[in-house]
Amino acid sequence: MSPEAAPRTREFLDEADRWSAHNYKPLPVVLEKGDGVWVWDVEGRKYLDMLAAYSALNQGHRHPAILDAAREQMEKITLTSRAFQNDQMGPFLRELCQASGFEKALPMNTGAEAVETAIKMVRKWGYQVKGVAPDQAEIIVCTGNFSGRTTTIISFSSEGQYKEGFGPFTPGFREVPYGDVDAFEAAVNENTVGFLVEPIQGEGGVVVPPDGYLKKTREICSREQVAFMADEIQTGLGRTGRLFCCDWEDVRPDVLIVGKALGGGVYPVSAAIADSEYMDVFRPGDHGSTFGGNPLGAAVGRASLKVILDEELPRKSDELGSWFMDELRAVDSPHVDHVRGKGLMIGVVIKKSSGPARPFCEALMDRGILAKETHHQVIRFAPPLTIGKETLEEALSEIAPVLRGDGVALD
Ligand SMILES: *Cc1c(COP(=O)(O)O)cnc(C)c1O
Repeated sequence: MSPEAAPRTREFLDEADRWSAHNYKPLPVVLEKGDGVWVWDVEGRKYLDMLAAYSALNQGHRHPAILDAAREQMEKITLTSRAFQNDQMGPFLRELCQASGFEKALPMNTGAEAVETAIKMVRKWGYQVKGVAPDQAEIIVCTGNFSGRTTTIISFSSEGQYKEGFGPFTPGFREVPYGDVDAFEAAVNENTVGFLVEPIQGEGGVVVPPDGYLKKTREICSREQVAFMADEIQTGLGRTGRLFCCDWEDVRPDVLIVGKALGGGVYPVSAAIADSEYMDVFRPGDHGSTFGGNPLGAAVGRASLKVILDEELPRKSDELGSWFMDELRAVDSPHVDHVRGKGLMIGVVIKKSSGPARPFCEALMDRGILAKETHHQVIRFAPPLTIGKETLEEALSEIAPVLRGDGVALD
């Protein structure tokens, strides 16, 4: 925490520090209001939100259409449980399937739950449809993956800290280097039921795989009867300049996993999406969630998806992202190694010799730009997709000096 925090801020920081588990290391800013691309702290200072809650806010803070849908639904019914039906879940799942081009969807709440759902679905499909021997199913994952924090999901993490002290782990996962088609092909065997992959690794540091990687691994999956599972929780719903990042290579996954922006920053809504061949392995009692598919979440999900489509956020992300990335690359800085990304999912990689990315993010905060380092060396820029070009231009005039080292506590 920065020692010079203002008194009111200091109080909130100290209180949270006292009462919260220390499982995060947030920037020392305490927010109390958000609107569109802007947030305000308890001192009344205004910031541009360039993290957008890890892409859960693609539609911006408190989008009016999403708030209206939530308010309207709150006046009717908010929770039924799946013991009864409600009038929002069916339309929500139909709209989600129609937008993504699949036959069925299973609604959950957090991203990790949707990933767990996909893992269970593909394992059972492996036994029932592919004919894998009991308890032998393997899912191939990539080095640098991030798919959530449950015990099973951290079991296949390659990040030591995510696992340390949390064993024993769930077996049945095999790790291959991200972006390496040959390594993937070599890892496939008769027990392989699925390939779980992020089209761009977000938490891994905005890592973009080589062109053709998704298409080639998709082809191998089809040939070897392996389910291609795309974790699009962060890359999906417009973030990378297409509705789904797999669209860049015309790849249709077997299982599509979405979350984050599906709840429009208002409510946790996620889903595993697939055709009947996969989804029909689930029978009543196999899987579930008390809140999954609840009418408030479904109404919010419908509105969130509608905003993304109606406001053409994928196209805006593509156009603005390409321009913004060019501008970032044009900044003459001794500290920047390179800039990478797609659409408005952008990583600025800081040279190891210039130290970690954290002090750059602190300097950005002092200039009214909220961004967060990921994977030590990378500053991630991923603002709401509703952002305008003028706002990005103004942001650039603050970002450029910081990238050149202005106000950065370099060690
Ligand atoms: C954030 C994220 C998750 C986990 O979502 P939660 O809602 O935090 O459980 C899974 N996969 C990817 C790619 C993510 O970015």
